[in-house]
Amino acid sequence: MCLFCKIINKEIPSEIILEDDNFIAFHDINPKAPVHILAIPKIHVESFNDVSSDTMAGMTTFMQNVAKEMDIEKSGYRIITNIGDNGGQEVKHLHFHILGGAKLRWEHLSDSNPKSFL
Ligand code: 5GP
Ligand code: ZN
Repeated sequence: MCLFCKIINKEIPSEIILEDDNFIAFHDINPKAPVHILAIPKIHVESFNDVSSDTMAGMTTFMQNVAKEMDIEKSGYRIITNIGDNGGQEVKHLHFHILGGAKLRWEHLSDSNPKSFL
């Protein structure tokens, strides 16, 4: 069973923000911003590549509720999902990073020169 499935089953403790029948949101153990929440479906889906549009529909409403719950809805926030090797995905259970609580940086995300691809 994967790490996040164990968090869903409460075999591994986490600081849960919001939970319903289909989704769960909890604090990232290694936060990259004052607010850093992970929102995941309870069904095991490896990445965004494999998720159904039905699950994403529910995920949308759930993440909107996480933003409200964390009081970052008005101040702004960022949602990121890393996919595969180049995306930097470490945990192979679909998760969305919800980041906020301060002005977020937006910098070059690769060591390659982006203009070399133009
Ligand atoms: P990825 O790099 O796969 O997009 O993100 C995985 C995230 O899971 C990382 O931000 C990492 O800090 C977080 N993480 C890894 N292990 C645990 C854990 O046991 N508990 C919690 N709450 N977060 C974790
Ligand atoms: Zn899983």
